Amino acid sequence: MIEQILAYNKRFVAVKGYEPFITSGQPDMKLAIVSCMDTRLTKLLPNALGLRNGDAKIIKVAGGTILTPYDAVIRSLLVAIYELGCQEIMIIHHSGCGACHMNAAHFLHLMHDRGITDEAIQEANKHVNLNEYLDGFHDTEASVRRTVATVQQHPLIPKDIVVRGFIIDSRTGELTPVE
Ligand SMILES: [Zn+2]
Repeated sequence: MIEQILAYNKRFVAVKGYEPFITSGQPDMKLAIVSCMDTRLTKLLPNALGLRNGDAKIIKVAGGTILTPYDAVIRSLLVAIYELGCQEIMIIHHSGCGACHMNAAHFLHLMHDRGITDEAIQEANKHVNLNEYLDGFHDTEASVRRTVATVQQHPLIPKDIVVRGFIIDSRTGELTPVE
């Protein structure tokens, strides 16, 4: 796959495929989005929101959730706010998200099948509680609310930052607010 991509990339640059993506001096939206890495959203999400290249900071992790108040998502939001002038944040989960139904026991079983040792599991458990770390969120709306609250109540995030939660339909791109 990577070799195919490298070959494509050479052609892309040679025919100036990048030209439609060059961002001009037009103002960036002061917007950050936290969403899921699901491949259905790769192009659907920015298109359904009317975002052009250069408009928004899009932070994508499995489920679009924040694991701890000091994880990489929060770190990225702090950069977006303080270094890049972001004023509004959208938390966007999506329908049919795989992270909704994740199950730690199943995960550990898959790891075992791939040769991960009990010692490695024990070592990992010193750093995180794997039963929480590998578990899904089970209720999408509740997860959006929890994630929004984590950002709103974060001690390092200014109170004037607007934070709103949504669920996007993975097929139609329709956004439903979670209030
Ligand atoms: Zn997802």
